[in-house]
Amino acid sequence: MEQPDIQALSPLRHSCLGCGGSCHGVRVRLFPDEVASIENAAISLGVSDPIVDGRVRQDAGQCAFLDAHQRCRIHANLGSERKPRICKQYPIALVRTETEVRAGIDPGCYTAFQTWHTAPEIDVEAYGAAESTFDAGAIRQEAALLRLLHAPNASIPSLLRALCPGEPDAVGLPIGLRERWASRWENPAIAALLADAHTGPSLRRGIQPLLAASESWSPPPVSLPAGEAEAWALEVCKRMLYLRLLPNYPGQAVALMTLLGAVSAHWAGPAHFAPGLAAWVRALRAPAFWAAFVADPHQMMWLATGQSPPRARIESPEP
Ligand code: SF4
Repeated sequence: MEQPDIQALSPLRHSCLGCGGSCHGVRVRLFPDEVASIENAAISLGVSDPIVDGRVRQDAGQCAFLDAHQRCRIHANLGSERKPRICKQYPIALVRTETEVRAGIDPGCYTAFQTWHTAPEIDVEAYGAAESTFDAGAIRQEAALLRLLHAPNASIPSLLRALCPGEPDAVGLPIGLRERWASRWENPAIAALLADAHTGPSLRRGIQPLLAASESWSPPPVSLPAGEAEAWALEVCKRMLYLRLLPNYPGQAVALMTLLGAVSAHWAGPAHFAPGLAAWVRALRAPAFWAAFVADPHQMMWLATGQSPPRARIESPEP
């Protein structure tokens, strides 16, 4: 079958800085033709029970093949070609939509922020593309949001005002949004999820400072990400939508949660912004983590509008 051209929003620039974070908290799915090779690698490296339910086993929230120095033992001892395809491909994310194959760098990579302008461009093959099919309404919504994000004057306040009705407050966000968002961090389920043994250590390190800082968010801070931090937050939002990294939620909800996560990471302090935002957009992929902030569509409506349905509804952003 002929491969469609791979589309991308921008040049795929990334350099792995070897933090090991991509091997935390994610059980890598194996293709059937990889199973024997990984089992043999495990025997030669002394790793027991390497595969569980068709995925590479995790141990205390990190891959069973990761060593104490956060290096992949398959890569270090047997060569990068022996790694599972998904590992070789990460952080390149590929998705096959209704019309095209899209590629991008997963913003959940903990070091993506550091190399997104400077790393050499990467060539990709479409061998690990996820499948994602949206209905016509979701496709229109995705396109409208991406147009808003690409607008020359796009900013975090302008996006949040497009997503949430209401007059702007002193910092340009819809009145009440900062207070409603800060209150979501009071849910004790968040701390419980971070303490869970299956939560990857990088994710825990990324989110914990946000949770600790949230104790002082009443009233919520007034500052917002600016300059390079704001540019990165908007880029992360584009990638979350374009790569359909949260395909089971409406695009407006994905954009809102991504941008509010960026605001939270900024409120936690400059040292926590980039790792906090990377951890945030990874954590949102766990339904229990998303639900700890917005348990259902009614809570999402309340977060966006301050009102409960049916008196208010989230408006589709205009292109
Ligand atoms: S197999 Fe290697 S690269 Fe893949 S998740 Fe495990 S440690 Fe990381």
